[in-house]
Amino acid sequence: MNDYFDQHNTPLDRRIAVALAKLSTAIKQHAWQEAMPQGLTPTQGQVLTLLSTRPGIGLAQVAEGLAIRPPTASDAVRVLEGKGLLNKSKKPDDGRALVLHLTPEGVAIAEQAQSWPDFLVPAISSLSEPQREAFWQGLLGLITTLQRRGEIPTSSMCVTCRFFRPNRHQDARRPHHCALVDAPFGDTDLRLECPEHELALDSKNGP
Ligand code: SF4
Repeated sequence: MNDYFDQHNTPLDRRIAVALAKLSTAIKQHAWQEAMPQGLTPTQGQVLTLLSTRPGIGLAQVAEGLAIRPPTASDAVRVLEGKGLLNKSKKPDDGRALVLHLTPEGVAIAEQAQSWPDFLVPAISSLSEPQREAFWQGLLGLITTLQRRGEIPTSSMCVTCRFFRPNRHQDARRPHHCALVDAPFGDTDLRLECPEHELALDSKNGP
C-alpha cells in the first residue's frame, strides 16, 4: 500500500508549486475586490505600495519593481497622477530625469493597499509558531532563489543587504546582526522590504 503514493502522487515540489498558484489566484481576486471600490486597479495599488517603500524612484524602476511592461507602468502612473495620488518632479542631480512621490492622499491610499493581503492573516495565524517560522524561512529562501534567477523583481530583503551579517551571534533566537543599526535579530525578524536596504555586492547570503 505504501508504494501506491510513491508511484502515483505528483512530486512534492510540484504540489507546492500548484498550491502557490492557487494562493496567487486568491490574492489576485481579493486585490480586485479591494481595489475596485477605490476606483483603482490592483496594478495601480501596487504602484502606490511600491512608492510608499521606495519614494523618489522613476518610471523605469516602477516597471522593474513590479515586473510589468514600461507602457503599463506609464499608464498606471498617469492615472494615479490624474487622481492626485502621486506627483512627478525633476531629479535633483539630473534635471532630465523624473522621479515619483506620493501625495498625502496617495500615502493614505497606499496604506490601505498594503493591507489588501491581510485576508490571509487569520489563516496564517492558525498555524503553529514552528509552522509559521518554517513557512517564513521557506518563503524567504524561495524568493531569494527566484530573485537570483531573475524570475521575480528584487525585494529589499535582509538576506541581500550589505548590512546583513548572518549567524554572527550565539543566541539561537537572535543569531543575525544588522550592521546598520548594530543590533542582533532572529529569523522571524528578517525583513522582506526594508527602507534602509542597500544591495550587497555579493548577495549570496541566504536565510
Ligand atoms: S538595513 Fe534593513 S535590510 Fe539591511 S540588514 Fe538591516 S534590517 Fe535588514
